[in-house]
Amino acid sequence: MPERTLLMIPGPIELEPEVLRALARPQLGHMDPEVTRAFGRVLTRAREIFLAPGAQPFVVAGSGTLAMEIAVANVVDPGERAVVVNTGYFSDRMRAILERLGARVEDVRAPLGAVPDLAAIERALAAEPTKLVTVTHVDTSTGVRAPIEAIARLAREHGALVVVDGVCAVGGEELRQDAWGVDVCLTASQKALGAPPGLALVMAGPRALQAWRAKKHKVASLYLDLGEWLPIMEGYERGAPQYFATPPVNLILALDVSLGHLVAEGMEARFARHARMAGAFRAAWRALGLTILPVDDSMAAHTLSAVYYPPGIDASFVGRMRTEGIAIAGGLHPDAKARYFRVGHMGAMNPSDILGAVGAVERSLLAGGYRFAVGAGVAAAQTALTKAS
Ligand code: PMP
Repeated sequence: MPERTLLMIPGPIELEPEVLRALARPQLGHMDPEVTRAFGRVLTRAREIFLAPGAQPFVVAGSGTLAMEIAVANVVDPGERAVVVNTGYFSDRMRAILERLGARVEDVRAPLGAVPDLAAIERALAAEPTKLVTVTHVDTSTGVRAPIEAIARLAREHGALVVVDGVCAVGGEELRQDAWGVDVCLTASQKALGAPPGLALVMAGPRALQAWRAKKHKVASLYLDLGEWLPIMEGYERGAPQYFATPPVNLILALDVSLGHLVAEGMEARFARHARMAGAFRAAWRALGLTILPVDDSMAAHTLSAVYYPPGIDASFVGRMRTEGIAIAGGLHPDAKARYFRVGHMGAMNPSDILGAVGAVERSLLAGGYRFAVGAGVAAAQTALTKAS
């Protein structure tokens, strides 16, 4: 097996060499002035990236699942009602977290590949007073993208907080946390933020911080408690480091570099580039006669594609792609796990990577016995990539 592969799973993703070099820096202490400056920049830049000038950033060692726990454990009390807008695997995880916290959880589900109707969400909210609504911006198991702005508006109309799981979205999908009234948005370092796995990011808006202060029960876990982290984040941002739990120093340095790249590109340009990459893939899938899981293009993520295998092709396709030098992922949603594959298109991915990946898809399909006009996918992607925007 060749060692050089292009990592195109839906996270972690290919990293810019400058990000990798930050990981290889000699170890510095967590109170070192250079680390303090980097940590402070990470926090300040997070507000630009989430378009949330009014929110408080928290950056904590852990994965996206930790960010999910932090996001809800600090605002919900046992017995309170939570509505989960459920689009798949990661919404189910949020449900499980809320249940452990003692919340009364109501799921609003949709068929595989779809987003629950706004009317169904509204009915769930109108039924009983609700503390919070959670929604997965992009469900990584299906490639389904939820309409955050509309859902956040509904939640606010019913006096509920809105928590957005942006793990497979922030840094790639359009998100305007403040303007859209999102109270908490969370993500992790390894997806569209372009850093290695290991950091959980939570942006808490004013209403969420207010709910945290008004909580009746103490947060049961010390590590999850915003009260422990708030002075640390405030300290690093004003250049006065404080200790609660040792931060993963080199990951912070790496995230500082990658967030610098995001800010330099600009969020509007970044949203447009991800939409363009996704459009090129969608054009290729269509040209090859393949169907994506999202039932409508308006619900399809810009950060990954989830694509059904055509007749005669099975999950061995993922291994074939690997021998072609491209690492992709198999299915994840329990209802269709063996019937589809996933390709990530986030962060540093460029048009040449896209064409290379579509070419590898064509060769792997051919090797599996699927017949189509060879080159049709590559041509469609190239046409989409070269079209004037
Ligand atoms: N939410 C979503 C939407 C995700 O895609 C993931 C990870 N794939 C998670 C949560 C959990 O993140 P982690 O694996 O970093 O714990």
